[in-house]
Amino acid sequence: MTGDSLGRPLRDLRISITDRCNFRCDYCMPPEIFGPGYEFLPKNQILSFEDIIMLVKAMLPLGLEKVRITGGEPLLRKDIAVLISMIRECDYGLDIALTTNGSLLSRHAEKLANSGLDRVTVRLDAIEDEIVRDISNSSISSSDIIRGVEAAIKYGLAVKINTVVIKDYNEHQIIPITEQFYQMGVTVRFIEYMDVGGTKNWNPQQVVFGEEIRTIIASKYGKLKPVKQQKYGQVAKRWSLNNGYEIGFIESISKPFCQSCTRARISANGKLYTCLFSEHGHDLKSLITMGADITDLRDAVIALWSKRNDRYSEVRTIRKLETRPVEMHFIGG
Ligand code: SAM
Ligand code: SF4
Ligand code: SF4
Repeated sequence: MTGDSLGRPLRDLRISITDRCNFRCDYCMPPEIFGPGYEFLPKNQILSFEDIIMLVKAMLPLGLEKVRITGGEPLLRKDIAVLISMIRECDYGLDIALTTNGSLLSRHAEKLANSGLDRVTVRLDAIEDEIVRDISNSSISSSDIIRGVEAAIKYGLAVKINTVVIKDYNEHQIIPITEQFYQMGVTVRFIEYMDVGGTKNWNPQQVVFGEEIRTIIASKYGKLKPVKQQKYGQVAKRWSLNNGYEIGFIESISKPFCQSCTRARISANGKLYTCLFSEHGHDLKSLITMGADITDLRDAVIALWSKRNDRYSEVRTIRKLETRPVEMHFIGG
């Protein structure tokens, strides 16, 4: 397959394995909407491990290089290490990653590493516990999550930290986060707060641009330099401090990267989304239920991907107010 209608290959697949989470981050699953009465997907609508393996096998010959398991909180899914080992058996060269809020990581790190997982990305937006708890609406502390990061490192997983920065909220945590993970030798990626999902009151005034984040970091560590060699399709642009420590910036608001976006996403109920901001997905789970085999699934993906023309972040300013993109906890970010 040569690529989508803009020539972008399908290299990166993100699979959400649950729409549930033990946190209620204000920017993703605000508690006033995802309260006790919220109806999550019933079990029979969630992709089974066998479904996931069929989908991975369908996409591997199309040039898939990386699979990222996400959610919701993927570590809530029972036997996740079994799923990782099943994916590993499909292709020993595949890059397999997991995105997590880190709360259960210290418990799972060893078996995840043994199952063939390569890397883990841990979300942490602050070091100060009051902010950690306030953002996530949970009782977690940053040290609980850092313990998970330490366990992942101990068992040989590559680790990165994802930090979403929100204006007048956690900007003052940029330096403590940088300091903490510089000391641990772990890369941090600062993310511009995005208008993803349909349930939040995002507004552009809350975005802290990558350039502003770099200015804050430079005030303590000196000017950052852009790292020259950046891989095609790499979302985080790397910058380095004078001492060589690299920091990533995901600047989808100020520097959209749709032109090299090679990501397909599968929601917890098996729908393929060709963009994080899509309103509708394409139901691959129903195809499986109706008896589709791996070749049928591959043909369906080729047909959908070859028509893909999404570039939402580049045309964001003209988005219609009534559009309602898919929720982040459902599609996985
Ligand atoms: N629960 C896991 C976690 O928190 O990492 C995996 C799912 S979460 C939806 C994946 C990533 O999306 C996290 O790094 C989170 O910070 C990010 N995210 C969620 N809502 C966001 C938003 N509005 N803007 C930017 N990033 C967001
Ligand atoms: Fe859960 Fe992750 Fe969303 Fe926070 S960002 S509510 S941890 S899925
Ligand atoms: Fe890819 Fe859509 Fe994000 Fe653009 S807006 S980078 S096409 S997911």
